[in-house]
Amino acid sequence: MEKTGVVIEIKKGRIKDANLGMIACARAANREVYALILNDTAENFREILEAHGVHAMVEITTGGADHTPWNPEQHTRAIITAMEALHIKALLALTTPMGRELLPRIAAALDAPLVMDCIDVDLEKGLARTTLYSGKTIGTIQVTGSHELFGIRPNVIAPVPVKTKAKMISMPIDTPVSGKFKTVEILPGQSSQTDITEADIIISGGRAMQSKENFDLLFQCAHTMGAAVGASRVAVDMGWVPYTMQVGQTGEKVSPRVYIACGISGSIQHFAGMKMSGMIIAINTNAEAAMVSNCDYFIEGDLFEIVPLLTQRLTQK
Ligand code: FAD
Repeated sequence: MEKTGVVIEIKKGRIKDANLGMIACARAANREVYALILNDTAENFREILEAHGVHAMVEITTGGADHTPWNPEQHTRAIITAMEALHIKALLALTTPMGRELLPRIAAALDAPLVMDCIDVDLEKGLARTTLYSGKTIGTIQVTGSHELFGIRPNVIAPVPVKTKAKMISMPIDTPVSGKFKTVEILPGQSSQTDITEADIIISGGRAMQSKENFDLLFQCAHTMGAAVGASRVAVDMGWVPYTMQVGQTGEKVSPRVYIACGISGSIQHFAGMKMSGMIIAINTNAEAAMVSNCDYFIEGDLFEIVPLLTQRLTQK
């Protein structure tokens, strides 16, 4: 049986939920799924990986005992070494900062085709569906090569629980690297909230928020429903919120179950980042706004009245 590798992302000791949809995508091809776990204890994740149909857990440790926590050059070499040793032809990783660092490097080293930000992949046929032209259209791309690489957009593919028994493969890989890349320090980002690319619900604010302080209204509302707060580029450019919260063509591409756009007009560039949302709710004073003609539900009115009301109702629940 052919094998597909999936690069597993772990955050604060937990497997990110978005990995599970990626595993479902890999399994759909009826191949063996090899979960590649970098510099972490694979056994800690056995239960969740076996509950989602993984056939093997590959624990890759780089650089001996004092491995660096993040070195894309070293990690690229380690993944390629594991792929070659295990005869893995197809590789999936998430289109996240980690995946964006690793996949192009691996593709370049293997001279392999790569499609990023896929919303679906048919591994048997080598077909990937991805958004093109800033999200205006969805293209199906055919790839052929000795290896095939796909970046999967987080949260667009639903997890499919399937029970398996996974074998454990331990691979200490001490690959020589150029030393041109060195992680000096890793600092926490400006935002303490859930990563918007992984959020189930996002409430976003635009120019109409008017100030950094007013974003507190959104944070309070988000807190009541376990949501993350996003923003349009205007709100980021004004310095009201950090760039990590920007949704759109030049920000994050998000696919939450519910996206609530507060005072956001719905420019093409903003849509490019959130059009894959399951349900779009627009709160806007202008019924003619583009966001309104592209949403599932529209609340016409002032966000400064509607959002506190929503927070109040959700708190009462
Ligand atoms: P506006 O377009 O000004 O809309 C404000 C909305 O708030 C209006 O619809 C108004 O009716 C409504 N409103 C006003 N007051 C209230 C109130 N009290 N209650 C409720 N509603 C109210 N933009 C992004 O968002 N993300 C990107 O990644 C991005 N990338 C870009 C890349 C390029 C190359 C370029 C050229 C532009 C990019 N932009 C991006 C900018 C984009 O073109 C728009 O300028 C931007 O999205 C508009 O932000 P907005 O909707 O918050 O503001």
